[in-house]
Amino acid sequence: MLDSKLEPMATAAKPLAGKSAIVTGSTSGIGLEIATQFAAAGANVMLNGFGDANEIEKTRAGLAKTHGVKVAYSGADLSKTEPVYKMVEDAIAAFGSVDILVNNAGIQHVEHIENFPLAKYDAIIAINMSSNFHAIRAALPGMKKKGWGRIINVASAHGLVASPYKSAYVTAKHGVLGLTKTVALEAAEFGVTCNAICPGYVRTPLVEGQIDDTAKARGITREQVIKDVLLKAQPTKRFVESEEVAGLAVFLCSPHAASITGSAIPIEGGWVSQ
Ligand code: NAD
Repeated sequence: MLDSKLEPMATAAKPLAGKSAIVTGSTSGIGLEIATQFAAAGANVMLNGFGDANEIEKTRAGLAKTHGVKVAYSGADLSKTEPVYKMVEDAIAAFGSVDILVNNAGIQHVEHIENFPLAKYDAIIAINMSSNFHAIRAALPGMKKKGWGRIINVASAHGLVASPYKSAYVTAKHGVLGLTKTVALEAAEFGVTCNAICPGYVRTPLVEGQIDDTAKARGITREQVIKDVLLKAQPTKRFVESEEVAGLAVFLCSPHAASITGSAIPIEGGWVSQ
């Protein structure tokens, strides 16, 4: 039975009130939905990522107004080391602390390993994996000091299993799971959890781009890629929704998730059960 001191999830209207979060790669897709659900749950949020400056400002101001929280934006390019540290510093300056860190920014490239562009390999390793290390390194001391923190790394089903033509991405995502476990062990006695979420295919701009690249790499049509490659992997035969992934992130920040740490949680319609 759950500890009776815990308020049931369903009745906690603003479960993250008073907390401040960074969500990397939150100008689009999964990250934007996580930032939105965090704001709705009462957390201050620092957005990060690329895109049209007016659109980003509209999103930032809209979230702040709708949910009555502080929303900041960092344009840090996470392919480089220094900007990651600056982003965390800026969030601490804006909110006073970083209680929740979601490492979500990511890119993909689909290509046979023999032809894989070296610059793409380096960028995928830097953005999808190394930026997680740097952001955690910068944010963890403050969390430990406060005795509370939540680190969530958005990995992938490709952190658990491989697919051909995604050598850099699969390497980075497997690396993120190793980082997740290590940080979980180092932070365990400080009230800080570190978990990885492993989504299957979610129909975001990242996946839209992949459909074209996969069609090219395999010599098949876009429709065949969706049916015979992407959804073939998922027994539910549907894309995972960003809202489902964001709901899991909110849950991982809740008191009910305090004993979940070092986990790689699949949310992939049964893909890795096969
Ligand atoms: P997306 O393309 O919609 O969003 C990616 C975000 O990362 C954007 O905000 C973009 O601006 C940002 N970004 C890219 N390069 C950056 C950089 N150098 N510095 C800072 N920000 C940068 O993609 P998405 O599908 O929402 O993916 C989000 C995360 O989820 C990624 O880590 C991805 O690997 C993971 N994921 C996605 C799927 C899927 O099917 N969409 C499945 C499993 C895992």
